[in-house]
Amino acid sequence: MAATVIIAADKLRAAVRHICLAGGSNEREAALVAENLVLANLSGHDSHGVGMLPQYILAVVEKRLKVNASVRVLSDAGAILNLDGNMGYGQVIGHEAMELGILRAKDLGACIVSLRNSHHIGRIGHWGEQCAAAGLVSTHYVNVVGRPPLVAPYGGADARFATNPYCCAIPAAEPGGEPIVLDMATSKIAMGKVRVAMNKGEQVAPGTLIDAKGAATTDPKTMFNPPIGAILAFGEHKGYGLAVIAELLAGAMTGGVTMHEGSWASGTITNNMFSVIIDPAKLGGAETWRREVAAFTDFVKASPKAPGSDGVLVAGEPERRMRAKRAAEGIPVDATTWGEIVAAGESVNVSAAETNSVAGAA
Ligand code: NAD
Repeated sequence: MAATVIIAADKLRAAVRHICLAGGSNEREAALVAENLVLANLSGHDSHGVGMLPQYILAVVEKRLKVNASVRVLSDAGAILNLDGNMGYGQVIGHEAMELGILRAKDLGACIVSLRNSHHIGRIGHWGEQCAAAGLVSTHYVNVVGRPPLVAPYGGADARFATNPYCCAIPAAEPGGEPIVLDMATSKIAMGKVRVAMNKGEQVAPGTLIDAKGAATTDPKTMFNPPIGAILAFGEHKGYGLAVIAELLAGAMTGGVTMHEGSWASGTITNNMFSVIIDPAKLGGAETWRREVAAFTDFVKASPKAPGSDGVLVAGEPERRMRAKRAAEGIPVDATTWGEIVAAGESVNVSAAETNSVAGAA
């Protein structure tokens, strides 16, 4: 297998931007897609980084993903915004949906943003971080349709829903501080991480996957080569329960679609997201909020290290550590993924030499 390429973040952004532009995106869209995907890689979530670009470009070529689409406001009830993503790039649709919700939450104290029918919106933490940067608390429930189910219900032996992510972001207690960003798939691992393991020729951890007969396996190929297996939910019945809630809030309450027979006929990865954005200063008061967030976080992090552990972190810290490391050292892209990106470029008339040259990977 050829070696992993190491690419600097700005070069990787330039390569994604270049391919998106060739696919028909305008400058703003290409920049938002590049920023979002490369930030996922910088954060250590290669599953939601540039490795998604080939799927996006294929969907553009097949006209299943609409370039240069914007969010459409279906109804506006002040603190409830009902939006349709028009099957546009999720990196643009998610950004616009959060911009609208942030403005409204600043004005009214809170806003429910109901978003249906977007192409893949990537790392949900990106949207939590956008709200947190505006000083707002947010919580997000997401379902995934347009593709066959991936995750088995607790007690079941085949897949019945997708990796339904959940995110809650708490803005920094002090100016210049860091937010807490809990952002996770409700499956043991995200599907993209199964793809990354397969591309790297690695096995996944025991207790993550079952094969088509419901038997435990560590082989990621079970999710790609028929007969297809399933990923397990995290936390047994509890993670399964949260996945069901995400499915119903995001898939049903937004007016989108939940997973059932026929929900994957389009073959196009589609996200629905139910978000609640809150100004914490409007509830217990800004001063109490700052004091209590800082006091609790400090208290929790002061827990002595468990044997063999690196100490207590809060959600969002592993991603920030990885951002510092990869910003300094470059982003590793495995050879299979890089080959797929180069081929995606070729499908929109960007030569392999051009992609490699823009990325500095030649
Ligand atoms: P993960 O398991 O790597 O991390 C989950 C959370 O745990 C993060 O908030 C992280 O900061 C926190 N965390 C990790 N280690 C920690 C530690 N030692 N101490 C404290 N907190 C810690 O994430 P995942 O479940 O693999 O999800 C990966 C990404 O996939 C997420 O960004 C998610 O939004 C995305 N996703 C997107 C979709 C979609 O359809 N758009 C579907 C599924 C997942």
